[in-house]
Amino acid sequence: MSVFDSLVGQARAVETLTRAVQDAALDSPGAAMTHAWLFTGPPGSGRSVAAAAFAAALVCSQGGCGHCPDCHTALLGSHSDVDHVTTEAMTISVDRARSLVLEAATAPSVARWRVIVLEDADRLTEAANNALLKSLEEPTPHTVWLLCAPSMEDVLPTIRSRCRHVILTTPTTVDVARHLVERDGVDEAMASFAARASMGHIGRARGLARDEQARITRAATLSLPVNVASLGSALLSARELVDAATERGAERTKSVDETERSQLARGMGVENPERPPKWARPDFKRLKDGQDKRRKRATIDELDRDLQDLLSFYRDVLVVQVGGNVTLVNAELIGSIEKVAVRCPPEITMRAMEAILEAREKIAAYVTPLLAVEELTLALRAS
Ligand SMILES: [Zn+2]
Repeated sequence: MSVFDSLVGQARAVETLTRAVQDAALDSPGAAMTHAWLFTGPPGSGRSVAAAAFAAALVCSQGGCGHCPDCHTALLGSHSDVDHVTTEAMTISVDRARSLVLEAATAPSVARWRVIVLEDADRLTEAANNALLKSLEEPTPHTVWLLCAPSMEDVLPTIRSRCRHVILTTPTTVDVARHLVERDGVDEAMASFAARASMGHIGRARGLARDEQARITRAATLSLPVNVASLGSALLSARELVDAATERGAERTKSVDETERSQLARGMGVENPERPPKWARPDFKRLKDGQDKRRKRATIDELDRDLQDLLSFYRDVLVVQVGGNVTLVNAELIGSIEKVAVRCPPEITMRAMEAILEAREKIAAYVTPLLAVEELTLALRAS
């Protein structure tokens, strides 16, 4: 057993990391260790899982055995020498970066290394990037930074040029299905469906395999292409899609919002967090503003997932239209796929796919979701 077992279909990355752990164990601290690493890979490829596993391997006396207390606490995020930084906010502030730099400079308490895992390094503000740069340029001998981002381009050149790069790729559906069966105990038919439908996104595959509601939501999204025949139905479908994503976004952030509110109330000695006294309101307002941003971000993520599902549907339509010998992502929806396939020529299907990509870009750039999705469903009417 090894901490790297949780990585799916990433043989090359695992080889690089395992060798680095072995080298690090041989050398005196700081001799040959690379102090800054950048993990990149598409969403769901497991970049933060890879970084967390590497962190555990560095603090484990056996190089990441996967069952000792060091491995366990490192993976759970409670090891005293591993800081795992995640953010739900849209940016990582300069203050946060400065406090991490200070933390990075302190000596490890039990392990050989102090490891800082920074998920979402693409969300560092420019000032935060600059604050971090110094620490990456002249790292203390015992510090290892593990940054994660979707791609190299998402990180400033000054940062990425100081990092060793670990590339994660989208795992194959076969790898994902096997992982679901072996590690999560999912039955084979469900694992195969979830792996296919998630297009190699492990977290998504696990969600689809375990959660019936996730499967129902996905099916509802994929009924859209057949339903957008008229102007009215296109606008209605857009509204329903955005409303459902907004609801899921709120649901996802609800419990952490509540916890933060009651923590703030406790810290300030406020009895009812729902109705804070006047003197405490600025603090509660600040908290609420941050939470609103986080909820918005969660909604955008949900909507983006819907649009990816829609994209997979039109991709299947195109496969049927051109008669390609390729497995359909949504094989179980062959009826609807064929219905749309006979409605229009392949060129129109490709235009539909472009319209979906455009909508994703607009939503990611904070165009009002409903406007972007309405524009999309109106465009899809033609297909
Ligand atoms: Zn261990």
